[in-house]
Amino acid sequence: MKINENYLNLQESYLFSTIAKKVTDFKAANPEASVIRLGIGDVTMPLTGSVIKSLHAAVEEMGNADTFRGYGPEQGYDFLREAVAGYYGQHGTVIDSSEIFVSDGAKCDVANILDIFGQDNKVLLPNPVYPVYLDTNTMIGREVGYIDANMENGFLPLPNKEQQADLIYLCSPNNPTGAVYSKDDLKLWVDYANAQDAIILYDAAYEAFITDEDLPRSIYEIPGARNCAIEFNSFSKTAGFTGTRLGYTIVPQELIRDGNSLNKLWMRRQSTKFNGAPYITQRAGAAVFTPEGLSEIQQNLEYYRENASIIAKGLDELGIWYTGGKNSPYIWLKTPESMTSWEFFDFLLEKAWLVGTPGVGFGANGEGFFRLTAFGNREQTIEAMDRIRKIW
Ligand code: PLP
Repeated sequence: MKINENYLNLQESYLFSTIAKKVTDFKAANPEASVIRLGIGDVTMPLTGSVIKSLHAAVEEMGNADTFRGYGPEQGYDFLREAVAGYYGQHGTVIDSSEIFVSDGAKCDVANILDIFGQDNKVLLPNPVYPVYLDTNTMIGREVGYIDANMENGFLPLPNKEQQADLIYLCSPNNPTGAVYSKDDLKLWVDYANAQDAIILYDAAYEAFITDEDLPRSIYEIPGARNCAIEFNSFSKTAGFTGTRLGYTIVPQELIRDGNSLNKLWMRRQSTKFNGAPYITQRAGAAVFTPEGLSEIQQNLEYYRENASIIAKGLDELGIWYTGGKNSPYIWLKTPESMTSWEFFDFLLEKAWLVGTPGVGFGANGEGFFRLTAFGNREQTIEAMDRIRKIW
């Protein structure tokens, strides 16, 4: 019996456990300190009224022999796939419901998609990046290449034509940097991918935070993307489903590689290894895309956006360099001169009783940077910026 030894190559994820330990120790030593957490990547607002109504109705259906549902279609119920297609249509992007695969979240899909690609593919990851992309490749024994995101490129790296790639991960609006690709920049990636016959794995989990009309909410707004991109999306940040679990992946019919349809391969993978997201949850997801549901989530998103703007304004006043804060719930700031990400973490905790996330936890290029999030409550966000002003 042998284990998958690739797991031994995973970097131990010390980031959030180390943060938790440091905060616990600090609170024990300083019981009077009112610690504010602006490090969380989880939503805090409850599910909206129409989602709750829909959940209740679906629960009732499940308790009645005439309306009870057992196994559903692995790729999701048509009512939800059509609702997703309608949502994209409202933003001018035409997606056929046959291209939409519903799941229990974007994290699983981003990981599982690797099943349909060959082992020898060259993978390109931005650095810093959402750690799941790296870990899931490491788990299958694949080494990855990096593309540097840094201050010089505003944490929005562009393709280098000399660098070969088969699978390219892009996340916009980005976690952790909050940076958002323009249509022109994304077009460079699409052209690069098409020239190399590569596939872009595009994570759009934060698209709902975009308000700037000129910024792309989907990679399919870019001509040529249907020939080279798979898009992942989630109800987690859009509608507060982090604990309810619902996401979807879009695999255009045009995606053919080695004469095979990637849409068909993903369908085959999902129908073999996944038995569908719960009916109740899918009903709740469909409620998000009704006119009432969309207006309700906008109120929640607006609350987070206002928090982001309070943080960004505070940093502007102090002349601190950052990305994000607009069209994104994340703010990625440069730590003060010569402080590492962890030194700044300790400084903020001790002097301002404030918790954020050290940038180096997302990759080597995150050293010297720090992530704050807009998912806290309003009073605490205002108070946090007052405290930063006093110590900077
Ligand atoms: N993709 C990115 C970039 C994320 O930051 C997250 C969650 O933090 C996810 C995907 C996970 O989404 P889900 O909750 O749908 O699994």
